[in-house]
Amino acid sequence: MSESKTQYIEKKTALVIGGSIAGMLAARVLSDFFEEVIIIEKDPKNTKGQIRKGIPQGAQGHVLLKSGEEILEEFFPGLTDEMIKEGSVPADFANDLAWYHHGGWKIKYDSGLSIIQQSRPFLEGHIRKRMDRIDNIHTLYNTKVKGLLTDGSRVTGIEAETADEVIELSADLTVETSGASSLAVQWLKKLGFAAPEKTEIKVNLFYANRIYQKLSPIQREWKSLLVYPNPPAQVCGGGISPTVDNQWMVTLLGYGFSSPPADNDAFLEFAKNLEQPHVYEAIKDGEPVTDTEVYRFPALRRFHFEKLKSFPKGLIVMGDAFCRIDPVFAQGMSIAAKEAKALQEMFKAAGALEADPKVYHQKISKIVDIPWFIALTEDFRFSKTKGNKPIGLPLLQWYVKKVVLACSHDSYIYGRFMKVLHLQAHPIYLITPRVLKGIFRFSDRF
Ligand SMILES: Cc1cc2nc3c(=O)[nH]c(=O)nc-3n(C[C@H](O)[C@H](O)[C@H](O)COP(=O)(O)OP(=O)(O)OC[C@H]3O[C@@H](n4cnc5c(N)ncnc54)[C@H](O)[C@@H]3O)c2cc1C
Repeated sequence: MSESKTQYIEKKTALVIGGSIAGMLAARVLSDFFEEVIIIEKDPKNTKGQIRKGIPQGAQGHVLLKSGEEILEEFFPGLTDEMIKEGSVPADFANDLAWYHHGGWKIKYDSGLSIIQQSRPFLEGHIRKRMDRIDNIHTLYNTKVKGLLTDGSRVTGIEAETADEVIELSADLTVETSGASSLAVQWLKKLGFAAPEKTEIKVNLFYANRIYQKLSPIQREWKSLLVYPNPPAQVCGGGISPTVDNQWMVTLLGYGFSSPPADNDAFLEFAKNLEQPHVYEAIKDGEPVTDTEVYRFPALRRFHFEKLKSFPKGLIVMGDAFCRIDPVFAQGMSIAAKEAKALQEMFKAAGALEADPKVYHQKISKIVDIPWFIALTEDFRFSKTKGNKPIGLPLLQWYVKKVVLACSHDSYIYGRFMKVLHLQAHPIYLITPRVLKGIFRFSDRF
Protein backbone atom coordinates (compact mmCIF):
# COMPACT_ATOMS: atom_id res chain seq x y z
CA MET A 1 0.00 0.00 0.00
CA SER A 2 1.65 3.25 -0.97
CA GLU A 3 -0.71 5.98 0.19
CA SER A 4 -4.19 6.78 1.41
CA LYS A 5 -6.25 8.84 -0.97
CA THR A 6 -9.69 10.28 -0.45
CA GLN A 7 -11.86 10.66 -3.47
CA TYR A 8 -14.92 12.84 -2.99
CA ILE A 9 -17.72 12.18 -5.36
CA GLU A 10 -20.51 14.59 -6.23
CA LYS A 11 -23.82 14.31 -4.42
CA LYS A 12 -26.23 11.56 -5.29
CA THR A 13 -23.74 8.80 -5.50
CA ALA A 14 -24.46 5.24 -4.46
CA LEU A 15 -21.85 2.61 -3.72
CA VAL A 16 -22.43 -1.13 -3.94
CA ILE A 17 -20.05 -3.51 -2.16
CA GLY A 18 -19.71 -6.71 -4.22
CA GLY A 19 -20.57 -7.13 -7.89
CA SER A 20 -22.37 -10.46 -7.91
CA ILE A 21 -26.09 -11.13 -8.38
CA ALA A 22 -27.40 -9.08 -5.45
CA GLY A 23 -24.89 -6.28 -6.11
CA MET A 24 -25.64 -6.03 -9.83
CA LEU A 25 -29.40 -6.04 -9.30
CA ALA A 26 -29.12 -3.41 -6.57
CA ALA A 27 -26.96 -1.29 -8.88
CA ARG A 28 -29.48 -1.69 -11.70
CA VAL A 29 -32.18 -0.24 -9.43
CA LEU A 30 -29.93 2.49 -8.00
CA SER A 31 -29.01 3.65 -11.50
CA ASP A 32 -32.57 4.95 -11.94
CA PHE A 33 -32.37 7.07 -8.78
CA PHE A 34 -28.72 8.16 -8.40
CA GLU A 35 -26.51 10.16 -10.73
CA GLU A 36 -23.68 7.71 -10.31
CA VAL A 37 -23.49 4.15 -9.05
CA ILE A 38 -20.15 2.55 -8.28
CA ILE A 39 -19.78 -1.16 -7.68
CA ILE A 40 -16.68 -2.15 -5.73
CA GLU A 41 -15.66 -5.71 -6.50
CA LYS A 42 -12.62 -7.48 -5.11
CA ASP A 43 -12.28 -9.86 -8.08
CA PRO A 44 -10.95 -8.92 -11.51
CA LYS A 45 -13.45 -8.46 -14.35
CA ASN A 46 -14.66 -11.86 -15.49
CA THR A 47 -14.59 -11.65 -19.26
CA LYS A 48 -14.62 -15.30 -20.20
CA GLY A 49 -17.35 -16.59 -17.89
CA GLN A 50 -14.89 -18.50 -15.69
CA ILE A 51 -15.54 -19.53 -12.13
CA ARG A 52 -14.08 -16.76 -10.03
CA LYS A 53 -12.51 -16.68 -6.57
CA GLY A 54 -15.13 -14.38 -4.99
CA ILE A 55 -17.91 -16.85 -5.88
CA PRO A 56 -16.58 -20.18 -4.58
CA GLN A 57 -20.04 -21.71 -5.11
CA GLY A 58 -19.87 -20.82 -8.82
CA ALA A 59 -19.00 -24.32 -10.05
CA GLN A 60 -22.11 -25.79 -8.46
CA GLY A 61 -25.46 -26.04 -10.21
CA HIS A 62 -27.54 -22.87 -9.90
CA VAL A 63 -31.24 -23.08 -10.78
CA LEU A 64 -32.94 -19.77 -11.50
CA LEU A 65 -36.47 -19.87 -10.08
CA LYS A 66 -39.31 -18.39 -12.10
CA SER A 67 -39.80 -15.46 -9.70
CA GLY A 68 -36.14 -14.51 -10.15
CA GLU A 69 -36.28 -14.93 -13.91
CA GLU A 70 -39.32 -12.64 -14.10
CA ILE A 71 -37.60 -9.85 -12.19
CA LEU A 72 -34.42 -10.23 -14.27
CA GLU A 73 -36.54 -9.96 -17.41
CA GLU A 74 -38.24 -6.84 -16.06
CA PHE A 75 -34.89 -5.21 -15.22
CA PHE A 76 -33.25 -6.32 -18.48
CA PRO A 77 -35.95 -6.82 -21.15
CA GLY A 78 -35.09 -9.57 -23.61
CA LEU A 79 -32.47 -11.16 -21.35
CA THR A 80 -34.15 -14.59 -21.26
CA ASP A 81 -34.36 -14.90 -25.06
CA GLU A 82 -30.81 -13.61 -25.39
CA MET A 83 -29.58 -16.29 -22.99
CA ILE A 84 -31.51 -19.04 -24.73
CA LYS A 85 -30.01 -17.95 -28.05
CA GLU A 86 -26.55 -18.12 -26.55
CA GLY A 87 -26.87 -21.47 -24.80
CA SER A 88 -29.34 -21.57 -21.89
CA VAL A 89 -31.57 -24.61 -22.10
CA PRO A 90 -35.31 -23.96 -21.70
CA ALA A 91 -37.43 -26.59 -19.96
CA ASP A 92 -40.93 -27.15 -18.65
CA PHE A 93 -40.44 -27.61 -14.92
CA ALA A 94 -43.00 -30.42 -14.59
CA ASN A 95 -42.68 -32.10 -17.97
CA ASP A 96 -38.95 -32.15 -18.49
CA LEU A 97 -37.83 -32.76 -14.90
CA ALA A 98 -38.03 -36.24 -13.36
CA TRP A 99 -38.16 -35.54 -9.64
CA TYR A 100 -38.01 -38.17 -6.91
CA HIS A 101 -39.18 -36.48 -3.73
CA HIS A 102 -39.86 -38.05 -0.33
CA GLY A 103 -40.26 -41.49 -1.83
CA GLY A 104 -42.40 -40.64 -4.88
CA TRP A 105 -41.83 -39.49 -8.47
CA LYS A 106 -43.67 -36.32 -9.38
CA ILE A 107 -46.34 -36.45 -12.05
CA LYS A 108 -45.16 -35.21 -15.45
CA TYR A 109 -47.41 -32.85 -17.38
CA ASP A 110 -47.21 -29.76 -19.53
CA SER A 111 -47.30 -27.15 -16.73
CA GLY A 112 -46.46 -24.03 -18.71
CA LEU A 113 -43.90 -23.17 -16.01
CA SER A 114 -40.81 -22.80 -18.12
CA ILE A 115 -37.34 -22.23 -16.72
CA ILE A 116 -33.95 -21.60 -18.29
CA GLN A 117 -30.94 -23.72 -17.35
CA GLN A 118 -27.32 -22.59 -17.50
CA SER A 119 -24.20 -22.39 -15.40
CA ARG A 120 -23.86 -19.77 -12.73
CA PRO A 121 -20.94 -17.94 -14.48
CA PHE A 122 -22.98 -17.87 -17.72
CA LEU A 123 -25.93 -16.20 -15.97
CA GLU A 124 -23.72 -13.74 -14.14
CA GLY A 125 -21.84 -12.94 -17.36
CA HIS A 126 -25.08 -12.11 -19.18
CA ILE A 127 -26.29 -9.82 -16.42
CA ARG A 128 -22.86 -8.20 -16.37
CA LYS A 129 -23.04 -7.53 -20.13
CA ARG A 130 -26.35 -5.72 -19.64
CA MET A 131 -24.92 -3.75 -16.71
CA ASP A 132 -22.01 -2.61 -18.84
CA ARG A 133 -24.50 -0.86 -21.13
CA ILE A 134 -25.82 1.36 -18.31
CA ASP A 135 -23.90 4.64 -18.51
CA ASN A 136 -24.05 5.72 -14.89
CA ILE A 137 -22.87 2.41 -13.42
CA HIS A 138 -19.12 1.91 -13.03
CA THR A 139 -17.30 -1.00 -11.47
CA LEU A 140 -13.98 -0.80 -9.66
CA TYR A 141 -12.53 -4.30 -9.98
CA ASN A 142 -9.64 -5.66 -7.93
CA THR A 143 -10.78 -3.42 -5.10
CA LYS A 144 -11.55 -4.86 -1.71
CA VAL A 145 -13.69 -2.99 0.80
CA LYS A 146 -12.05 -2.92 4.23
CA GLY A 147 -14.52 -0.87 6.23
CA LEU A 148 -17.24 1.77 6.35
CA LEU A 149 -16.91 5.51 6.87
CA THR A 150 -19.24 7.40 9.17
CA ASP A 151 -19.94 10.93 10.38
CA GLY A 152 -21.11 9.50 13.70
CA SER A 153 -24.74 8.93 12.83
CA ARG A 154 -24.77 7.78 9.22
CA VAL A 155 -22.58 5.74 6.92
CA THR A 156 -20.93 8.09 4.49
CA GLY A 157 -18.93 5.71 2.32
CA ILE A 158 -16.27 3.05 2.37
CA GLU A 159 -12.58 2.46 2.72
CA ALA A 160 -11.09 0.03 0.23
CA GLU A 161 -7.74 -1.22 -0.96
CA THR A 162 -6.45 -1.90 -4.43
CA ALA A 163 -3.16 -3.58 -5.30
CA ASP A 164 -1.25 -0.41 -4.58
CA GLU A 165 -3.33 2.06 -2.60
CA VAL A 166 -5.98 2.60 0.03
CA ILE A 167 -8.90 4.70 -1.12
CA GLU A 168 -11.90 6.27 0.52
CA LEU A 169 -15.10 6.80 -1.41
CA SER A 170 -17.96 8.86 -0.05
CA ALA A 171 -21.54 8.36 -1.05
CA ASP A 172 -25.12 9.20 -0.17
CA LEU A 173 -26.02 5.54 0.06
CA THR A 174 -23.92 2.39 0.45
CA VAL A 175 -25.41 -1.01 -0.32
CA GLU A 176 -23.64 -3.99 1.19
CA THR A 177 -23.90 -7.13 -0.96
CA SER A 178 -20.61 -8.89 -0.31
CA GLY A 179 -22.34 -12.22 0.25
CA ALA A 180 -21.64 -15.03 2.66
CA SER A 181 -18.27 -13.61 3.67
CA SER A 182 -19.77 -10.21 4.53
CA LEU A 183 -18.00 -8.32 7.30
CA ALA A 184 -20.80 -5.76 7.68
CA VAL A 185 -21.45 -6.70 11.30
CA GLN A 186 -17.77 -6.31 12.24
CA TRP A 187 -17.51 -3.04 10.29
CA LEU A 188 -20.55 -1.62 12.10
CA LYS A 189 -19.27 -2.75 15.50
CA LYS A 190 -15.94 -1.09 14.83
CA LEU A 191 -17.75 2.19 14.24
CA GLY A 192 -19.64 1.83 17.52
CA PHE A 193 -22.98 0.65 16.13
CA ALA A 194 -24.83 -2.28 17.68
CA ALA A 195 -24.51 -5.75 16.15
CA PRO A 196 -27.68 -7.47 15.00
CA GLU A 197 -28.94 -10.76 16.43
CA LYS A 198 -27.93 -13.78 14.36
CA THR A 199 -29.93 -16.97 13.73
CA GLU A 200 -28.04 -19.99 12.53
CA ILE A 201 -29.33 -23.42 11.58
CA LYS A 202 -26.52 -25.92 11.20
CA VAL A 203 -27.06 -28.43 8.39
CA ASN A 204 -23.51 -29.44 7.45
CA LEU A 205 -24.51 -29.84 3.81
CA PHE A 206 -22.09 -30.59 1.00
CA TYR A 207 -22.40 -30.22 -2.75
CA ALA A 208 -20.16 -32.14 -5.16
CA ASN A 209 -20.24 -31.33 -8.82
CA ARG A 210 -18.89 -32.61 -12.14
CA ILE A 211 -19.61 -31.48 -15.67
CA TYR A 212 -20.18 -34.18 -18.27
CA GLN A 213 -19.87 -33.75 -22.02
CA LYS A 214 -21.90 -36.91 -22.56
CA LEU A 215 -24.10 -39.05 -20.35
CA SER A 216 -24.23 -42.87 -20.58
CA PRO A 217 -25.82 -44.04 -23.83
CA ILE A 218 -29.07 -45.15 -22.17
CA GLN A 219 -32.73 -44.50 -22.88
CA ARG A 220 -33.76 -41.52 -20.74
CA GLU A 221 -37.27 -40.37 -19.98
CA TRP A 222 -36.15 -37.03 -18.62
CA LYS A 223 -34.26 -33.92 -19.61
CA SER A 224 -33.38 -33.05 -16.00
CA LEU A 225 -33.28 -35.33 -13.02
CA LEU A 226 -33.52 -34.72 -9.29
CA VAL A 227 -33.30 -37.39 -6.63
CA TYR A 228 -33.97 -35.43 -3.46
CA PRO A 229 -32.79 -37.04 -0.19
CA ASN A 230 -35.49 -39.03 1.58
CA PRO A 231 -34.98 -38.09 5.25
CA PRO A 232 -34.58 -39.17 7.92
CA ALA A 233 -33.34 -42.49 6.51
CA GLN A 234 -31.68 -41.24 3.33
CA VAL A 235 -29.68 -38.01 3.70
CA CYS A 236 -28.07 -37.94 0.26
CA GLY A 237 -29.34 -36.92 -3.14
CA GLY A 238 -28.26 -35.92 -6.59
CA GLY A 239 -29.35 -34.37 -9.80
CA ILE A 240 -28.49 -33.83 -13.45
CA SER A 241 -29.43 -30.87 -15.58
CA PRO A 242 -28.47 -29.69 -19.03
CA THR A 243 -26.24 -26.66 -19.14
CA VAL A 244 -24.57 -24.45 -21.74
CA ASP A 245 -22.28 -25.89 -24.44
CA ASN A 246 -24.43 -29.06 -24.66
CA GLN A 247 -23.00 -30.22 -21.37
CA TRP A 248 -24.55 -31.73 -18.26
CA MET A 249 -24.21 -30.52 -14.70
CA VAL A 250 -24.14 -33.44 -12.29
CA THR A 251 -24.55 -32.61 -8.61
CA LEU A 252 -24.44 -34.85 -5.57
CA LEU A 253 -25.30 -33.65 -2.09
CA GLY A 254 -25.62 -34.84 1.47
CA TYR A 255 -26.80 -33.46 4.82
CA GLY A 256 -24.91 -33.96 8.09
CA PHE A 257 -22.25 -35.70 6.10
CA SER A 258 -18.64 -35.55 7.20
CA SER A 259 -16.99 -37.21 4.20
CA PRO A 260 -18.20 -35.93 0.82
CA PRO A 261 -16.84 -37.68 -2.30
CA ALA A 262 -13.40 -36.15 -2.58
CA ASP A 263 -12.33 -37.62 -5.93
CA ASN A 264 -13.82 -38.91 -9.17
CA ASP A 265 -14.02 -42.55 -8.06
CA ALA A 266 -15.76 -41.58 -4.85
CA PHE A 267 -18.15 -39.42 -6.88
CA LEU A 268 -19.34 -42.44 -8.87
CA GLU A 269 -19.50 -44.63 -5.80
CA PHE A 270 -21.59 -42.04 -4.01
CA ALA A 271 -24.02 -41.83 -6.94
CA LYS A 272 -24.30 -45.62 -6.91
CA ASN A 273 -25.53 -45.57 -3.30
CA LEU A 274 -28.40 -43.12 -3.77
CA GLU A 275 -31.91 -44.35 -3.09
CA GLN A 276 -32.65 -44.38 -6.82
CA PRO A 277 -30.19 -45.66 -9.47
CA HIS A 278 -30.96 -43.06 -12.15
CA VAL A 279 -28.08 -40.65 -11.49
CA TYR A 280 -25.53 -43.45 -11.40
CA GLU A 281 -26.93 -45.13 -14.51
CA ALA A 282 -26.77 -41.84 -16.38
CA ILE A 283 -23.13 -41.11 -15.54
CA LYS A 284 -21.41 -44.48 -15.17
CA ASP A 285 -20.56 -44.66 -18.88
CA GLY A 286 -20.58 -40.91 -19.45
CA GLU A 287 -17.73 -38.56 -20.38
CA PRO A 288 -16.84 -36.11 -17.61
CA VAL A 289 -14.92 -32.98 -18.58
CA THR A 290 -14.14 -31.70 -15.09
CA ASP A 291 -12.93 -33.21 -11.85
CA THR A 292 -15.09 -33.37 -8.74
CA GLU A 293 -15.55 -29.96 -7.08
CA VAL A 294 -16.81 -29.97 -3.50
CA TYR A 295 -18.47 -27.07 -1.71
CA ARG A 296 -19.43 -27.17 1.95
CA PHE A 297 -22.38 -25.26 3.32
CA PRO A 298 -22.27 -25.45 7.12
CA ALA A 299 -25.32 -23.41 8.10
CA LEU A 300 -28.23 -21.22 7.09
CA ARG A 301 -27.56 -17.79 8.57
CA ARG A 302 -29.66 -14.75 9.07
CA PHE A 303 -28.72 -11.39 10.59
CA HIS A 304 -31.70 -9.56 12.07
CA PHE A 305 -30.78 -6.02 10.99
CA GLU A 306 -34.51 -5.35 10.93
CA LYS A 307 -34.72 -5.75 14.72
CA LEU A 308 -32.01 -3.23 15.59
CA LYS A 309 -33.36 -0.24 17.50
CA SER A 310 -30.89 2.06 15.83
CA PHE A 311 -29.20 1.52 12.51
CA PRO A 312 -27.14 4.14 10.69
CA LYS A 313 -28.77 5.92 7.78
CA GLY A 314 -26.90 5.62 4.50
CA LEU A 315 -26.40 1.85 4.62
CA ILE A 316 -28.48 -1.04 3.35
CA VAL A 317 -27.60 -4.73 3.60
CA MET A 318 -29.05 -7.28 1.18
CA GLY A 319 -28.47 -10.61 -0.58
CA ASP A 320 -26.54 -13.37 1.14
CA ALA A 321 -24.99 -10.76 3.45
CA PHE A 322 -28.46 -10.36 4.96
CA CYS A 323 -29.59 -13.96 4.85
CA ARG A 324 -28.10 -17.15 3.48
CA ILE A 325 -30.45 -20.03 2.81
CA ASP A 326 -29.94 -23.75 2.17
CA PRO A 327 -28.97 -23.78 -1.54
CA VAL A 328 -30.86 -27.01 -2.29
CA PHE A 329 -34.03 -24.92 -2.61
CA ALA A 330 -32.37 -22.75 -5.28
CA GLN A 331 -33.71 -19.55 -3.78
CA GLY A 332 -30.69 -17.27 -3.20
CA MET A 333 -30.57 -15.48 -6.54
CA SER A 334 -34.34 -15.08 -6.69
CA ILE A 335 -34.43 -13.69 -3.14
CA ALA A 336 -31.76 -11.18 -4.23
CA ALA A 337 -33.96 -10.25 -7.21
CA LYS A 338 -37.00 -9.80 -4.95
CA GLU A 339 -34.95 -7.64 -2.61
CA ALA A 340 -33.83 -5.47 -5.52
CA LYS A 341 -37.46 -5.11 -6.58
CA ALA A 342 -38.36 -4.10 -3.00
CA LEU A 343 -35.60 -1.46 -3.13
CA GLN A 344 -37.06 -0.08 -6.32
CA GLU A 345 -40.55 0.07 -4.80
CA MET A 346 -39.26 1.79 -1.67
CA PHE A 347 -37.34 4.39 -3.68
CA LYS A 348 -40.40 5.06 -5.81
CA ALA A 349 -42.53 5.59 -2.70
CA ALA A 350 -40.11 7.39 -0.37
CA GLY A 351 -37.40 8.83 -2.60
CA ALA A 352 -33.94 7.35 -2.75
CA LEU A 353 -32.23 9.71 -0.31
CA GLU A 354 -35.03 9.70 2.25
CA ALA A 355 -35.44 5.92 2.25
CA ASP A 356 -35.09 4.48 5.73
CA PRO A 357 -32.78 1.41 6.00
CA LYS A 358 -34.81 0.11 8.93
CA VAL A 359 -37.99 0.09 6.84
CA TYR A 360 -36.11 -1.63 4.01
CA HIS A 361 -34.63 -4.28 6.28
CA GLN A 362 -38.10 -4.96 7.71
CA LYS A 363 -39.44 -5.34 4.17
CA ILE A 364 -36.76 -7.77 3.05
CA SER A 365 -36.96 -9.69 6.29
CA LYS A 366 -40.57 -10.45 5.30
CA ILE A 367 -39.36 -11.53 1.83
CA VAL A 368 -36.84 -13.86 3.44
CA ASP A 369 -39.33 -15.26 5.99
CA ILE A 370 -41.06 -17.44 3.39
CA PRO A 371 -38.07 -19.20 1.80
CA TRP A 372 -36.50 -19.48 5.26
CA PHE A 373 -39.61 -21.20 6.55
CA ILE A 374 -39.73 -23.52 3.48
CA ALA A 375 -36.08 -24.46 3.98
CA LEU A 376 -36.41 -25.05 7.73
CA THR A 377 -39.47 -27.26 7.31
CA GLU A 378 -37.38 -29.56 5.12
CA ASP A 379 -34.00 -29.21 6.82
CA PHE A 380 -35.31 -30.31 10.21
CA ARG A 381 -36.28 -33.66 8.69
CA PHE A 382 -32.55 -34.46 8.84
CA SER A 383 -31.65 -35.68 12.32
CA LYS A 384 -28.30 -33.84 12.45
CA THR A 385 -29.78 -30.38 11.75
CA LYS A 386 -29.24 -28.12 14.76
CA GLY A 387 -30.92 -24.86 15.72
CA ASN A 388 -34.21 -23.39 16.91
CA LYS A 389 -37.14 -25.17 15.32
CA PRO A 390 -40.11 -23.18 14.01
CA ILE A 391 -43.33 -23.36 16.04
CA GLY A 392 -45.69 -26.12 14.89
CA LEU A 393 -42.94 -27.89 12.92
CA PRO A 394 -44.26 -31.51 13.22
CA LEU A 395 -47.66 -30.49 11.86
CA LEU A 396 -46.07 -28.48 9.06
CA GLN A 397 -43.79 -31.33 8.08
CA TRP A 398 -46.67 -33.77 8.12
CA TYR A 399 -48.77 -31.52 5.86
CA VAL A 400 -45.96 -30.69 3.45
CA LYS A 401 -45.13 -34.37 3.04
CA LYS A 402 -48.76 -35.10 2.17
CA VAL A 403 -48.66 -32.31 -0.42
CA VAL A 404 -45.35 -33.57 -1.82
CA LEU A 405 -46.67 -37.10 -2.19
CA ALA A 406 -49.91 -35.87 -3.78
CA CYS A 407 -47.72 -34.22 -6.44
CA SER A 408 -47.09 -37.77 -7.72
CA HIS A 409 -50.60 -38.07 -9.06
CA ASP A 410 -52.34 -34.69 -8.92
CA SER A 411 -51.20 -32.03 -11.38
CA TYR A 412 -53.42 -29.38 -9.75
CA ILE A 413 -51.57 -29.81 -6.46
CA TYR A 414 -48.19 -30.03 -8.18
CA GLY A 415 -49.00 -26.81 -10.05
CA ARG A 416 -49.68 -25.04 -6.75
CA PHE A 417 -46.62 -26.60 -5.13
CA MET A 418 -44.41 -25.31 -7.96
CA LYS A 419 -45.76 -21.77 -7.55
CA VAL A 420 -44.76 -21.82 -3.87
CA LEU A 421 -41.40 -23.39 -4.63
CA HIS A 422 -40.65 -20.78 -7.29
CA LEU A 423 -41.50 -18.06 -4.75
CA GLN A 424 -44.42 -16.89 -6.84
CA ALA A 425 -47.05 -17.69 -4.18
CA HIS A 426 -47.27 -17.74 -0.38
CA PRO A 427 -47.32 -21.26 1.19
CA ILE A 428 -50.94 -20.59 2.23
CA TYR A 429 -51.68 -21.23 -1.45
CA LEU A 430 -51.28 -24.93 -0.57
CA ILE A 431 -54.14 -24.89 1.91
CA THR A 432 -57.37 -24.89 -0.09
CA PRO A 433 -60.36 -27.27 -0.08
CA ARG A 434 -59.24 -28.68 -3.43
CA VAL A 435 -55.70 -29.37 -2.17
CA LEU A 436 -57.04 -30.93 1.06
CA LYS A 437 -59.39 -33.15 -0.93
CA GLY A 438 -56.53 -34.18 -3.21
CA ILE A 439 -54.10 -35.08 -0.47
CA PHE A 440 -56.57 -37.08 1.60
CA ARG A 441 -58.12 -38.91 -1.34
CA PHE A 442 -54.93 -40.87 -1.84
CA SER A 443 -53.52 -40.71 1.67
CA ASP A 444 -54.07 -44.44 2.29
CA ARG A 445 -51.41 -45.08 -0.39
CA PHE A 446 -48.65 -43.45 1.61
C1 LIG B 1 -23.54 -24.62 -3.38
C2 LIG B 1 -24.50 -23.51 -3.67
C3 LIG B 1 -25.47 -23.68 -4.64
C4 LIG B 1 -26.39 -22.67 -4.89
N1 LIG B 1 -27.38 -22.88 -5.79
C5 LIG B 1 -28.29 -21.90 -6.01
C6 LIG B 1 -29.34 -22.11 -6.93
O1 LIG B 1 -29.51 -23.19 -7.49
N2 LIG B 1 -30.19 -21.07 -7.17
C7 LIG B 1 -30.07 -19.87 -6.52
O2 LIG B 1 -30.86 -18.96 -6.77
N3 LIG B 1 -29.08 -19.66 -5.62
C8 LIG B 1 -28.21 -20.64 -5.35
N4 LIG B 1 -27.21 -20.42 -4.45
C9 LIG B 1 -27.15 -19.12 -3.73
C10 LIG B 1 -26.47 -18.06 -4.59
O3 LIG B 1 -25.16 -18.45 -4.89
C11 LIG B 1 -26.47 -16.70 -3.85
O4 LIG B 1 -27.65 -16.53 -3.11
C12 LIG B 1 -26.37 -15.57 -4.87
O5 LIG B 1 -25.12 -15.62 -5.46
C13 LIG B 1 -26.59 -14.16 -4.32
O6 LIG B 1 -25.55 -13.85 -3.53
P1 LIG B 1 -24.92 -12.40 -3.34
O7 LIG B 1 -24.86 -11.60 -4.58
O8 LIG B 1 -25.58 -11.83 -2.14
O9 LIG B 1 -23.46 -12.84 -2.89
P2 LIG B 1 -22.35 -13.60 -3.72
O10 LIG B 1 -22.90 -14.17 -4.94
O11 LIG B 1 -21.65 -14.50 -2.79
O12 LIG B 1 -21.38 -12.42 -4.14
C14 LIG B 1 -20.62 -11.63 -3.26
C15 LIG B 1 -19.73 -10.71 -4.10
O13 LIG B 1 -19.06 -9.81 -3.24
C16 LIG B 1 -17.67 -9.77 -3.58
N5 LIG B 1 -16.97 -9.40 -2.34
C17 LIG B 1 -16.88 -10.11 -1.19
N6 LIG B 1 -16.22 -9.40 -0.25
C18 LIG B 1 -15.89 -8.21 -0.82
C19 LIG B 1 -15.21 -7.06 -0.35
N7 LIG B 1 -14.74 -6.97 0.91
N8 LIG B 1 -15.01 -6.03 -1.22
C20 LIG B 1 -15.48 -6.11 -2.51
N9 LIG B 1 -16.13 -7.17 -2.99
C21 LIG B 1 -16.35 -8.21 -2.16
C22 LIG B 1 -17.38 -11.18 -4.07
O14 LIG B 1 -16.22 -11.24 -4.88
C23 LIG B 1 -18.65 -11.46 -4.87
O15 LIG B 1 -18.58 -10.95 -6.17
C24 LIG B 1 -26.30 -21.43 -4.17
C25 LIG B 1 -25.31 -21.27 -3.21
C26 LIG B 1 -24.43 -22.30 -2.93
C27 LIG B 1 -23.44 -22.09 -1.83
